[in-house]
Amino acid sequence: MNALRPSIDAMKPYVPGFQPKDGARYIKLNTNENPYPPAPGVHAAILAELGAGAESLRKYPEPESLLGREAAATLYGFDPSWVILANGSDEVLNNLIRACAGEGEEIAFVHPSYSYYATLAAIQGARVRTFALDENLAIRDLPERYEGKLFFLTNPNAPLGFRFDNDFIRKLAGRVAGLLVVDEAYADFAAENALALVKELPNVVVTRTFSKSYSLAGMRLGLAIARPEIIGALDKIRDHYNLDRLAQVAAVAALRDQPYLKSCVERICATRERFSEALRALGYEVIPSQGNYVFASPPDGNGERIYRGLFERRILARHFSDPALSHGLRISIGTDAEMDETLSALKEIG
Ligand code: PMP
Repeated sequence: MNALRPSIDAMKPYVPGFQPKDGARYIKLNTNENPYPPAPGVHAAILAELGAGAESLRKYPEPESLLGREAAATLYGFDPSWVILANGSDEVLNNLIRACAGEGEEIAFVHPSYSYYATLAAIQGARVRTFALDENLAIRDLPERYEGKLFFLTNPNAPLGFRFDNDFIRKLAGRVAGLLVVDEAYADFAAENALALVKELPNVVVTRTFSKSYSLAGMRLGLAIARPEIIGALDKIRDHYNLDRLAQVAAVAALRDQPYLKSCVERICATRERFSEALRALGYEVIPSQGNYVFASPPDGNGERIYRGLFERRILARHFSDPALSHGLRISIGTDAEMDETLSALKEIG
């Protein structure tokens, strides 16, 4: 007896970055988490929502996450009908595929970028087309017209850290027949973002996460901004209680404290620039990054050797066996002290 759909039976699961049980013993620079705590208001909001004896959890949450949508809409200058909140941006990426790409239909993304799109497509039985990058980090062989259902543009690119500019995104949107989903998981660390293009172009969707700049990876929060017709479709297919009560109040508190977000982002970007320069001084090639991580290649082009050397010293980075990435490794930006320790370890590893 095999009740599984053949595509599910055959598919390989996505492997998230290593989450050690004894996390305190590591410097954890492998999943682009934020080294600083969430905004202070988040803690207070969660405690207030829980109430004495966690009484509030007896009842289902508000199904639309309306306060969160309103907070995001105000912040980004949209009507709330253009915003949906999600249980991590992974949820909304999944629902975009579910909404647009049926069995046998095609979605596309840049290689290398976020490989989870391929897993989500496989679950749907959708086909995947990838577009490689050339040596100048431009997309190779982009057709005049891409007829697939969705094109995912991870921007800033993960794991490489560079960003396609808005002029390019505008051109790309004109060549994509379906939706162009700009996955802006790391946009708060970048000089520019594509939100204005959502207003300008009917097929552009922007997704964001609270896992990086807002230090809320453990809460599972994300959002999408798009035309109301697209948001309406995503609302039809999401889990009707997709955000629990604690996530909803955390989202509002985090969005409302923009000075805190800005100060965290500034610190991380300053550390990123300092760390990138120090790596270059050690002979590493470092792609200028607009995220909270850098992709760095050692002089001998053996990323795995460096990954192992760091691991032995209880520093976790991310190495990808993919031939397009195996020469380097992705290192998340932690505190200044953590990056100093990482630099000392890299000098030792040689
Ligand atoms: N997009 C990109 C490019 C990411 O790197 C990640 C985090 N792994 C996500 C989306 C998913 O983020 P979330 O934690 O909000 O599901």
